[in-house]
Amino acid sequence: MNDKILFIIGIIITWLVTRFYYRLSAKDQKSILNKIPEELKKAIRDDRRELLTVKELNELLEQKTLDKSKDGLDVFKVCPKCGSAHLNRGKEWYVDGPDQAWQFNILECADCRWRADDLTS
Ligand SMILES: [Zn+2]
Repeated sequence: MNDKILFIIGIIITWLVTRFYYRLSAKDQKSILNKIPEELKKAIRDDRRELLTVKELNELLEQKTLDKSKDGLDVFKVCPKCGSAHLNRGKEWYVDGPDQAWQFNILECADCRWRADDLTS
């Protein structure tokens, strides 16, 4: 009789410990997923590979943000800081004296104000 009770208590303790770690793991995964932008979550979901290495994850991220077939500021598909597609392209002048001025291209995110130009980069 005692053996049966100990056996049942053992099962209950095992179940409680498993449940505790499962909840801890689920909470941990949720906090990780909350940090990933929706666009990247979609890319990971759409990817058919079962497991991604860090290199493959970087490539996936790069495919979503950069177009390496282009040059200069045109490589940016979305803002590298916030992921927004609201990028404004334009031109500005750099003036370095009365006879010296040249035009350069700028790229600015309309959402987070990230900015790049081809004069300094
Ligand atoms: Zn941005």
